[in-house]
Parts: sequence; C-alpha cells; structure tokens
Amino acid sequence: MASVDIIDVKKNFGAHPVIKGVNVRIEDGEFVILVGPSGCGKSTLLRMLAGLEHVTAGEIKIGDRVVNDLPPKDRDIAMVFQNYALYPHMTVAENMAFSLKLKNAPRAEIETKVRPAAEILGLTAYLDRYPRQLSGGQRQRVAMGRAIVRDPQVFLFDEPLSNLDAKLRVSMRTEIKNLHQRLTTTTVYVTHDQIEAMTMADKIVVMQDGRVEQIGAPLELYDRPNNLFVAGFIGSPA
Ligand code: ADP
Ligand code: MG
Repeated sequence: MASVDIIDVKKNFGAHPVIKGVNVRIEDGEFVILVGPSGCGKSTLLRMLAGLEHVTAGEIKIGDRVVNDLPPKDRDIAMVFQNYALYPHMTVAENMAFSLKLKNAPRAEIETKVRPAAEILGLTAYLDRYPRQLSGGQRQRVAMGRAIVRDPQVFLFDEPLSNLDAKLRVSMRTEIKNLHQRLTTTTVYVTHDQIEAMTMADKIVVMQDGRVEQIGAPLELYDRPNNLFVAGFIGSPA
C-alpha cells in the first residue's frame, strides 16, 4: 500500500491545456473517486498516475517516490479499464497469470497468486473457460483478478462498470467495495456516475474542465458544496 500525491500537475496535448494545475493527496488505503462530466480530464489524470501519459508540469508521487519518469511497469500500480482488455485466446487462468509470466515468475508462485484471487472473485469454477464463454460481470472480475495477482501498491480503475447493465452495475459496486475492504489497497477510481461516487468513495474529487472544484467525503460535498457546479453535479442523479 502507498499514498499517492498529485502536486500541481498540468497536462497539455499540443498547445491545448487539459489538466490545469491539480493537487490531490490520497492516503494509504483510501478509496478515492474522481468524478466529473465527460471530457473534464479524469482519464488523462489517471493515465498520468499509471505512466501512460507524460506529465507536462508538476509531480506525481507514489509513497515517497517521484514517479514522473518511471515507466508503468516500475510504478507498482495495476489498472482496470472499462473494456476489460482480456486476451480472447487465453483462458481465465492464463489471462490472470499473464503479467506474472511476463516477469518469469515460477509456476508455483503463479499458482499461489491466481488461486486465491480467483477465490476472492468467485471465479474458481471458471479458470479453464475463455472470455467469450463468460458474462460481462465475470469478464470484469477477470480484469480485476489480473490486477490483484500483481499485488500492486495502488489500484487504478477507469469507469470499470460503464459497459455493464444497470442491475449488474449495482451489485459490482458492492463487490468492488468488499474487495477493497478485504485488500485495503489504495484505490483511485474514475467515474462520471454521481451515484457510484456517493456510494463507493471514502473521498470524492469533483473535477470540471481540467481543475478540481472540491475534495471531500461524500456527505461533506452533499451538505456543504463549494459552489453551484458541485451542488448541481452531486445533487442530481445520473
Ligand atoms: P474524461 O475521462 O473526463 O472524459 P479525458 O481525460 O479523456 O476526459 O479527456 C480530457 C480532454 O483531453 C478532452 O478534451 C479530450 O478530447 C482531450 N484528450 C484526451 N486524450 C487526448 C489525446 N491523446 N490527444 C489530444 N487530446 C486528448
Ligand atoms: Mg474518461
């Protein structure tokens, strides 16, 4: 586990400023949600934490380390995407083991990581199946399993539930929260869904147009919004 510090971070795409000076401190083990309308810069910020985008200015720290110049594989993070990105020709077990195989982990070690992760996620009976034989919710669990086996210091989620139907979305919220309670890994979770933010977050970061409008616990934002944007955004259901 580790804290994450985003210190006066800016990002330009060409001449176009997309992140305009963001400061966020995420404590060890915290579940933090970045929320805001489409295009406000949530994914860009998350991708900078992951090392998939370069930081134009400012600093990103994971624990005590400044990671600005570290490639993704050296950051001790694992990211779960909206579209799962599973390998179709690999079984569930192979998908979950893939990153460990890349690191030449011994078979016994892979086994001792994949099994418990599959158990936590209710995937034990599905280890020999292929992604096409799974439901959307099961695929999403495999994507989480791939992240868990890496035993990262930080989990990053980018709208992981947005491809699921409404009913499944609600149950997966609970599953992800239970998982967090069990592993207590520091988590940064992006969504544009206010209800997801209100029900899942320890702390919410409300963004608009490349800036942070307010940071606080869900009820704090609800009771004492800094401005009309936050009041409107948190107050109105998705
Ligand atoms: P969100 O995830 O909140 O919907 P994004 O971070 O994806 O927002 O995008 C923020 C802004 O940055 C948008 O205006 C988007 O068009 C722009 N953007 C994102 N990625 C790129 C890129 N690779 N090149 C140019 N512009 C980009
Ligand atoms: Mg996005």
